[in-house]
Amino acid sequence: MRRFLSGLGYKMMNFMQGRYGTDKLNLAMLITAVVFDIVNMFLQPLWLRSILGILSSVLLILAIYRTFSRNIPARQKELTAFNAFFNRLKTLRTHHIYRCPACRQKIRVPRKHGVKVEIRCPKCGQTFTKKI
Ligand SMILES: [Zn+2]
Repeated sequence: MRRFLSGLGYKMMNFMQGRYGTDKLNLAMLITAVVFDIVNMFLQPLWLRSILGILSSVLLILAIYRTFSRNIPARQKELTAFNAFFNRLKTLRTHHIYRCPACRQKIRVPRKHGVKVEIRCPKCGQTFTKKI
């Protein structure tokens, strides 16, 4: 038994060789699954409980699949998309994004509550005012 356990770490290391492992996205999926399960305990309608239960199971299965996956470039691509999504959310908290009325160029302006600002489009030079 002792011999089996001492070799277990090595066997596990060997098994994980060339596999993706875990990352921030896996952790987020696991936490979301646990939150779904906790919320599920307090839900009353059965159909809602089963939907949340299925969602939680799908997240867990996806996280396990990603951990043991050998397709590392695909997993990294998913992580990049996940990070880009969260960076966009962070940007929306601190900045407004407007479109230039003349050329439709997106312009990022820092948030200041209740202040009127004149924005000059860096692409076409058109100026317009917005209350941010
Ligand atoms: Zn413009």
